[in-house]
Amino acid sequence: MQELFDNIPEGPLADKWTKFKADAKLVNPSNRRNIDVIVVGTGLAGGAAAASLGEMGFNVKSFCFQDSPRRAHSIAAQGGINAAKNYQNDGDSTYRLFYDTVKGGDYRSREANVYRLAEVSANIIDQCVAQGVPFAREYGGLLDNRSFGGVQVQRTFYAKGQTGQQLLIGAYQALSRQIHKGTVTMYNRHEMMEVVKIDGKARGIIARNLITGAVERHAAHAVVIASGGYGNVYFLSTNAMGSNVTAAWKSYKSGAHFANSCFVQIHPTCIPVTGDHQSKLTLMSESLRNDGRIWVPKKKEDAKAIANGEKTALDIAEDDRDYYLERRYPAFGNLVPRDVASRASKERCDAGYGVNKAGQAVFLDFSAAINRLGKEAVEARYGNLFQMYEKITAENPYVMPMKIYPAIHYTMGGVWVDYNLQTTVPGLFSAGEANFSDHGANRLGASALMQGLADGYFVLPYTISNYLADDISTGEISTDHASFEQSEKNVKERLDFFMSNKGSKTVDHFHKRLGKVMWEKCGMSRSKEGLEEALAEIKAIREEFWKEVKVPGVQTSLNQELEKAGRVADFIELGELMCHDALSREESCGGHFREEHQTPEGEALRNDKEYSYVAAWKYKGENETPELLKEDLKFENIELKQRSYK
Ligand SMILES: Cc1cc2nc3c(=O)[nH]c(=O)nc-3n(C[C@H](O)[C@H](O)[C@H](O)COP(=O)(O)OP(=O)(O)OC[C@H]3O[C@@H](n4cnc5c(N)ncnc54)[C@H](O)[C@@H]3O)c2cc1C
Repeated sequence: MQELFDNIPEGPLADKWTKFKADAKLVNPSNRRNIDVIVVGTGLAGGAAAASLGEMGFNVKSFCFQDSPRRAHSIAAQGGINAAKNYQNDGDSTYRLFYDTVKGGDYRSREANVYRLAEVSANIIDQCVAQGVPFAREYGGLLDNRSFGGVQVQRTFYAKGQTGQQLLIGAYQALSRQIHKGTVTMYNRHEMMEVVKIDGKARGIIARNLITGAVERHAAHAVVIASGGYGNVYFLSTNAMGSNVTAAWKSYKSGAHFANSCFVQIHPTCIPVTGDHQSKLTLMSESLRNDGRIWVPKKKEDAKAIANGEKTALDIAEDDRDYYLERRYPAFGNLVPRDVASRASKERCDAGYGVNKAGQAVFLDFSAAINRLGKEAVEARYGNLFQMYEKITAENPYVMPMKIYPAIHYTMGGVWVDYNLQTTVPGLFSAGEANFSDHGANRLGASALMQGLADGYFVLPYTISNYLADDISTGEISTDHASFEQSEKNVKERLDFFMSNKGSKTVDHFHKRLGKVMWEKCGMSRSKEGLEEALAEIKAIREEFWKEVKVPGVQTSLNQELEKAGRVADFIELGELMCHDALSREESCGGHFREEHQTPEGEALRNDKEYSYVAAWKYKGENETPELLKEDLKFENIELKQRSYK
């Protein structure tokens, strides 16, 4: 098994991908139909990969746990997708998108991967327009763009506040075409439970049919994990309720290393938590920061009066409002990156200026935009988001400023992959949010959709073919192999355990406890002391979980408590890894803010000399501390600087 070879092609940055494509080995069309590829996940990354590999003629098996590929969590994406088209003639270029993304990620991502992402970004828009994705257009018919945080150009393509939905319908159409042609076999309502390896290579998966409970063996020459992010380790997040880490975690346990797990994104503009009754949080898209202004009262007594219901935002005079992002970061104002905006909100709320009962909310105010542009224009840009806000909070944001607060939203960490998106297990690839590849310590808004589609439509078709070219004589992989038998046995034993354990506590009980520890001690800010406490607390939760978890129902039909039990067991282990990762990184960067390492102004303080690496963790067995392997990051095209948005 290989360790950490990044496999970046030689040559100048701008030529690497072209060189890779020119040198890549190919599989001839008549051989492709004899080669099987499993793709776990039908979001933008997996859906695009399965459709593209099917179109090429490979025999694809596509898996998702929802009842339709179209329900993958990508459908929730609101604000937009970046691409270096420079339609606005405002100075954008491939290099600038690359630069912004590396800088936005606080210089903890690989230059070569990010450059390739910026390079193929323009193809994504062409591909999606050809599919009929209804991107927003200006009056004259040209595609419209808006800005997202951390940049000074307008490069974000969007479809109202439902960009992910429209892009996913495009990918789903492409996938459906292949299903109809017979190149893709679709397994809805199937959950991958294990990776199967034969002679060190990924050769299949064990999946559970969630409707019948049957445990099935599926073989292939290569496996792609495109199973999304792990934000739900915090219990409350903006992710879909079903989003989970299991496929990525089983990959880790089968020998794929897990990278930068502590790099999680906390999104500044979400509807605040209102109590213990919630099971999910709601995002208010970053696009709203194009026109919304963020503020809190300048006087604590005003904040208190609003929190107590004695005053509203409308009672606070203009001079008594603190537009703290505009004050602290005049160059980027309300459009600073997410990590910066989140920490600034926390700082104001911790200082006593929060505007809801819990003291954990700030205002996002559209009155200036409505006065300047008119209500209709604001409605045309964000109408569905305003409607969603009003439905949830019963307040009309056209009149009363929204209340928002940071929440867990995205995970930059994930399965370690090389330039080919291959993990440390040969034949096991990973794409989209499930891998760690492009965003460093902080993702810029509108870059996840770009990455998922880049991986699926434009990168994997080349890199998987290059890998499979050596497999044309292998023949069909048999599911009778002892490795399938062993993996299936492991899965069945775990399911049997859950069904027979006579515990007294629900799965959610443990998930909530885990989420609280993660949010408080491995969330928006972390310290050595807190992380050590978290490790002890999560260990205790893990031990109690295996003694006390109670799963009702049966194994032989739909049982969502059983599904959750397996996922939460994996989240608990992941939580421990995240704390190890956060503890070992003695610096602040992007989404990882260590209280011990900050500038006098309270900004993140990196330590490039000692921590300019990807932390790839190797699984060492049950109850063993994982081993940290370091992939040094080389910056040859970008000069590392202290990030400044002032
Ligand atoms: C509310 C919200 C708004 C967002 N808005 C934006 C935006 O405007 N712009 C942007 O760039 N990004 C946005 N993001 C981020 C972006 O949506 C995601 O990062 C991206 O869609 C992830 O795509 P994916 O294909 O990697 O995974 P997903 O879309 O999460 O798909 C995962 C797939 O894996 C399957 N799966 C998972 N586990 C298993 C298993 N064990 N077995 C079988 N199948 C499995 C699921 O069924 C699903 O099909 C947003 C995120 C949220 C939460």
